[in-house]
Amino acid sequence: MRKVTLIPGDGIGPEVTNAMKEIFKAAGVQIEWEEENAGITTLEQQGELIPQSLLDSIEKNKVAIKGPITTPIGKGFKSINIQLRQHFDLFSNIRPIKSIKGIETRFTNVDLVIIRENTEGLYSGLEVWDEHLQIADSISRITRLGCERIVREAFEYARANKRKRVTLVHKANILKLAGATFLKAGEVISKEFPDVLMDDLIIDNMCMQLVTKPEKFDIIVTTNLFGDILSDLCAGLVGGLGIAAGINMGKEVALFEAVHGSAPDIAGKGIANPTAVIESGIMMLRHIGEDKRADKISLALEKTLQNKQQCTGDLGGKATTKEFTNYIINNLN
Ligand code: NAD
Repeated sequence: MRKVTLIPGDGIGPEVTNAMKEIFKAAGVQIEWEEENAGITTLEQQGELIPQSLLDSIEKNKVAIKGPITTPIGKGFKSINIQLRQHFDLFSNIRPIKSIKGIETRFTNVDLVIIRENTEGLYSGLEVWDEHLQIADSISRITRLGCERIVREAFEYARANKRKRVTLVHKANILKLAGATFLKAGEVISKEFPDVLMDDLIIDNMCMQLVTKPEKFDIIVTTNLFGDILSDLCAGLVGGLGIAAGINMGKEVALFEAVHGSAPDIAGKGIANPTAVIESGIMMLRHIGEDKRADKISLALEKTLQNKQQCTGDLGGKATTKEFTNYIINNLN
């Protein structure tokens, strides 16, 4: 049986990953979950933020799915998510954003993909505090290699998924060196993909256009911080963080996870929407060649989401996580 590493995470993580597991089991998915955790939970239980057994499990299985993990704000340990992305060189974060039938928002026809550089930029971990001068320096390191491989990923994704246009998002008017490096990567790589159109936009203009005309975008490729912010913004266009899924992809390892965080405001209440992690799981099934099961679960999820009464509170319904999960299971047949 195929082994996949499962990281439940914390906050709403265990609630939403359990929902996914139940649905996958009911759909007959043949996966043996190798459960390993990280973060504050394992620090308390095992004395380590990232146990070696978790790294070994991902290294061996090459495929993992995770729930969100809390990162202390403004203090404490470095984000576990960033550490995992950097450890396995998961340089590409792919986040599809699509309007879902039945979920009402201001927009009906959004169908874009954010491809975010996942290991560099302001998330490189290069921060220095000068106690004497009371100055904090956060260094945004961009490399030519990093820019070229993420831009290539966007073009390859476009070609493989029959998409037409890649938009590079940057701030090259102010960040002259970093912006120019990113744009240069676009100029070089796009020559290899004459069948895909390319354009570029400054991040602030992009934000304005996304909240007014999101239907006109296809693939957005951008650096780490801009991609992080645009991901939540775009999730909001189609129904919120409860439904936005993603993959952290490297050359060898793929780590699937929702866009959302551990949602401490609703953790333990049994009301979290598990759609994002289920969608991430569906992407994982396709990645390992289980397309039939992926289609089956996807149809059941789609059918459930079309009936607002069956949805969780974030989507205007009244269902608990458990009830929503059971509706999906009932819709599998
Ligand atoms: P968040 O994404 O956890 O929550 C933002 C808002 O969206 C909250 O109101 C929350 O209730 C709601 N929400 C999120 N997911 C939902 C779901 N599945 N169903 C219903 N509502 C949902 O963002 P935050 O509150 O800014 O961050 C909380 C913690 O999560 C922080 O420690 C942050 O570092 C961490 N985080 C982790 C990841 C990850 O593990 N990949 C990603 C983002 C944030």
